[in-house]
Amino acid sequence: MYDLVIIGAGPAGLTASVYTSCFKLNHVIIGALPGGQMTYAPDILNYPGFEEITGPELTSRMVAQVKKRGGELIPSSVTRIEKEEDGFVVFTDNQQSYKSAAIILATGVERRRLGIPGEMEYTGKGVQYCATCERFAYENKIVAVIGGANAAAQSAVQLSHAAAKVFILYRGDALRADPIWLSAIEKNPRIEVVTRVQPTEIVGDGVKVTGVKIRSIQNETDVREIPVEQIFVEIGGVPGTALLLPLGVRVDQGGYIAVGETLATSVEGIFAAGDVLSHKYSIEQISSAVGLGARAAVSVFTYLKQQKAPNLWGTSQIKRS
Ligand SMILES: Cc1cc2nc3c(=O)[nH]c(=O)nc-3n(C[C@H](O)[C@H](O)[C@H](O)COP(=O)(O)OP(=O)(O)OC[C@H]3O[C@@H](n4cnc5c(N)ncnc54)[C@H](O)[C@@H]3O)c2cc1C
Repeated sequence: MYDLVIIGAGPAGLTASVYTSCFKLNHVIIGALPGGQMTYAPDILNYPGFEEITGPELTSRMVAQVKKRGGELIPSSVTRIEKEEDGFVVFTDNQQSYKSAAIILATGVERRRLGIPGEMEYTGKGVQYCATCERFAYENKIVAVIGGANAAAQSAVQLSHAAAKVFILYRGDALRADPIWLSAIEKNPRIEVVTRVQPTEIVGDGVKVTGVKIRSIQNETDVREIPVEQIFVEIGGVPGTALLLPLGVRVDQGGYIAVGETLATSVEGIFAAGDVLSHKYSIEQISSAVGLGARAAVSVFTYLKQQKAPNLWGTSQIKRS
C-alpha cells in the first residue's frame, strides 16, 4: 500500500512528487503525458530561473529531478478511483491497480474543442491542438490560430517563424494575452489579428483542410471563408475532474475543483493541485501549478501524520535546507 498516489504528471504533479520524496513518503506518480500541457509550450519566458526555455526542455528537467529524488513515474491513464475504508484504489488503463492512503489529483485541463462542422473530420488532417508538435505541418503555409489568450498568442508567434502567414481568429474585442506577446504580435508582419469573429465551419477537400468559415459577432449574416492549410485550436480547456466526480467531490461554478486552504477536496484523503483547481487558487501557469503541487504535498504529509499511519511514524522527516 502506498502512502500517496499522485495522478497527473504536469508541473503540479511532478513538483508534488519531488516534495513527497523529500518527506520520504512512499508514493507513485501516474501521468498519461509526462510534462502535461507544459510540453506544448513553445517558448516559456516567465518561469523563474530560466530566462527562456522550451516546454519539452523544462519537462525533461522536472522529470529528471523527480527520478533523482526517487519518484516512480508511470506513464499510464487512470480510469477510475474506488474509495475503501482505509484509503483508495486507483485503476489504470493497463489493468494495474494502486492502493494508497491519500491521493493528489493534478490532472490539469483537457484541450477544448470548437464543436463545429468539419472539426472532427479534419482533426489530424489540418486541424491541430498543438502548434509546436509538427513543424513540417506549417512550414511556408498559411495557417490560422483560433483563440485569444496567452496560449493562442504564444503559438501564433511560434508559428510565424516558419509559416508564410498566421491569422489569429478571436471572438473578443481584443486579445487577452500578456503584453510581452501582444507586442511581439504587433511587430510581426506575418501575423494578422482578426477579432470579433466566430469560426463556424472547417472546410476541406476531403483529404485536408482548405479553409475556415468565420462569422462576424456583430452581424450574423456577415460570413466569409479564409483560405488556410492548417488550423490550430487554442481556446483553453476543461478541467480534468472526471475521475473525482463519481466520488462526489465538490466543484465550483466553472467545474474546477473546490478546495480549502490546505488544498483538501471535499472527499477526505483527496487533495488537488494545479490547473484543475478553482481559479481562486490557480492562475493556469506553470509557476502556480508548481506552487500548488508543493502545497498539496505538504498537506498530504500533515494529513497522513494526523491519521497516525503506522508506516509513517519514525520514517518521515521534513527537511528544510
Ligand atoms: C501552448 C501552451 C503554452 C503555454 N505556455 C505557458 C508559459 O509560457 N508559461 C506558463 O507559465 N504556462 C504556460 N502554459 C500553461 C501551463 O502549461 C499550465 O498552466 C500547466 O502545465 C498546468 O500544470 P498542471 O500540472 O496543473 O496540469 P497539466 O500540465 O495539464 O498536466 C496534467 C497531467 O495530468 C495527466 N492526466 C490527465 N488526466 C489523467 C488521467 N485520467 N490519468 C493519468 N493522467 C492524467 C496529463 O497527462 C498530464 O500529465 C501553456 C500552455 C499551453 C497549452
